[in-house]
Amino acid sequence: MNASSEHSTSLWMETTVLDDAPTLDKEEQADVAIVGSGIAGMSVAYELAKAGKNVVVLDRGPIGKGMTARTTAHLTAQCDDGFAQMISRRGEDLSKTWYESQSAGIDRIEANQQELGIACDFRRLDGHLFYAAGTDTEILGREFEATKKVGMPIHRETGVPFAGQAKSSSLRYPNQATFHPLKYLAGLASAIRKAGGRFYAGKTRTTSR
Ligand SMILES: Cc1cc2nc3c(=O)[nH]c(=O)nc-3n(C[C@H](O)[C@H](O)[C@H](O)COP(=O)(O)OP(=O)(O)OC[C@H]3O[C@@H](n4cnc5c(N)ncnc54)[C@H](O)[C@@H]3O)c2cc1C
Repeated sequence: MNASSEHSTSLWMETTVLDDAPTLDKEEQADVAIVGSGIAGMSVAYELAKAGKNVVVLDRGPIGKGMTARTTAHLTAQCDDGFAQMISRRGEDLSKTWYESQSAGIDRIEANQQELGIACDFRRLDGHLFYAAGTDTEILGREFEATKKVGMPIHRETGVPFAGQAKSSSLRYPNQATFHPLKYLAGLASAIRKAGGRFYAGKTRTTSR
């Protein structure tokens, strides 16, 4: 999906990633053509361009205006559905590998923005997980144990740093991160171009409505 014509907006969407990408109306040649200019496509394009590959990035809509433009911008190696769930479905080894890959992904974003001097407001901070009042606190207990199994640092605590939550049972995940996703993509786009990469954007804005 390209979210640029969706009705709801995010804090990041006004940031331009690349506004001069032409439409593809000629023959092109590349080692790799990447379809999609969200964080997945741009990250791969950057790594390949850096490794000396001739890269083309194609998007059916504006560059960098897919779901990446609408995230809540937290970078966490914690799994949305929880590690207790993941381990029960996929086993401990795969869950550990998943955690390590997520964690390495955050480290890579941190290293890239440092190396490229991208002013994308990247900062490390703690993540907190807590449930609505009345939720079985043993869910947190199970998640705490499962998270330790995959090797992710975690603390079981009372309270989260929001007003009215001083007594909530919670889990704290140290050293997670946040950033401005589109400022980061703009920095990657510039680096990809410097390495010879080309971008082509579609004229038609697609929408799910
Ligand atoms: C409300 C919300 C909050 C979120 N919050 C977070 C968060 O805080 N942290 C987090 O890690 N994740 C979050 N996510 C998930 C995250 O946004 C996505 O996992 C991530 O942005 C996906 O990146 P992507 O590059 O795969 O896709 P996208 O950013 O969607 O990019 C895909 C691109 O491909 C293009 N495209 C698609 N099909 C074609 C085609 N056939 N031809 C040409 N181009 C095509 C689209 O136009 C688009 O530009 C959130 C998601 C939502 C919806």
